[in-house]
Amino acid sequence: MSHDNLLDQALVRLDEAAAHLSIDPDVIEKLKYARETAKARLMIRMDDGSRKSFIAWRCRYDDTRGPTKGGIRFHPDSDVFEVETLAFWMTFKCAVMNLPYGGGKGAVRVDPRKLSKAELERLSRAYMQAFARVIGPNRDIPAPDVYTNAMIMGWMADEYAQIVGQTEPAVITGKPIALGGSLGRDDATARGGYYLVRHLATDLGLGQGARVAVQGFGNAGQHIASLFAADGHKIVAVSDSSGAVKCDSGLNLQKLFAAKASGQSVSSTAGEDGHELMSADDLVGVDCDILAPSALENMIHEGNAAQVKAKIVLELANGPVTSEADAILEKNGIVVLPDILANAGGVTVSYFEWVQNRQGFYWTIEEIHDRLKTIMEREGRAIWDISREKNISMRTAAYVHALGRLAEAIEAHGTQS
Ligand code: GLU
Repeated sequence: MSHDNLLDQALVRLDEAAAHLSIDPDVIEKLKYARETAKARLMIRMDDGSRKSFIAWRCRYDDTRGPTKGGIRFHPDSDVFEVETLAFWMTFKCAVMNLPYGGGKGAVRVDPRKLSKAELERLSRAYMQAFARVIGPNRDIPAPDVYTNAMIMGWMADEYAQIVGQTEPAVITGKPIALGGSLGRDDATARGGYYLVRHLATDLGLGQGARVAVQGFGNAGQHIASLFAADGHKIVAVSDSSGAVKCDSGLNLQKLFAAKASGQSVSSTAGEDGHELMSADDLVGVDCDILAPSALENMIHEGNAAQVKAKIVLELANGPVTSEADAILEKNGIVVLPDILANAGGVTVSYFEWVQNRQGFYWTIEEIHDRLKTIMEREGRAIWDISREKNISMRTAAYVHALGRLAEAIEAHGTQS
């Protein structure tokens, strides 16, 4: 799958937002292009003694509001267009949350499920060797994303420390707790979305016992299922890259987690506890209140948007709804809680991790949750109010909110930068 028009799609949202603000056209011009994208070929030794190479990127899209921030994705379909678009979204996400960061992103085109643990470590270290000159605690701060995790961040932090000759935990977030990671980073993406939905529940017309469908069952998908289930909501359907299951009376989450922990698809639980096999493509059309796309881009598109029955789409993935699909959902009265707000809990707790690393003083889990909740509610409410006031979608309102902050910062920098 190529992503060559992904950035153009994303820029449609920028233009829509700009129409609601009176800002200098120079601001829009600046935000249309990535500032810097580095590319490298990573050569690693495989366990059988052969050498293999993998293409990799690190993009610093815009650093007006601070050092660039964003995850590193390991995925066989990654390309430069996807990396730059994800970095564009990070720019807006950090502005939405008022974090003192610009936006960045990185990727390696690789299927990490085909590498041994030792090969994965060599690849992660090679990534840091290739991009250490771009990365830095005051310049560009990576984090986990699709198919990367705390273990990988730990290897990269260690490699960076070796390169610069001193420990520098604030260079990367989402690290293992033992290496300066923050409590609460693990479920932060889902938790932010959960706090947002809870805060807006009355406005959204959501009651007790909502029915939830989750597309993608990685970090965000698994945690959102747990959080909603703990509040008495029912997880009625779940998919991953190899299949899907549904159960009208609620899926047994423990069974699903056990399947994932042993490297199997959620579909392997079919037949147990009333779990019924279904096609992953049909998940978007499941009868539910909340649909939470939690995997990759473009999952809800022109071809399937009309099937969505949910009242609310909670975008835990980045870019799961195309701009054409947005229009169809809006016409059908479905509220989309947009990625740059809904999944911003992850980068927000990354920011908490960076702050703790710099001050060398660590917070309790209660402090993390309280601070995350406060920011999600504050920015979520502000965006809700903009959307009511201007009669625009939550997505356009989120872009308006972020663009106002970005424009102010771009103007404050003056004319020479
Ligand atoms: N990869 C996550 C995202 O897309 C987190 C980024 C971060 O923590 O810097 O928001």
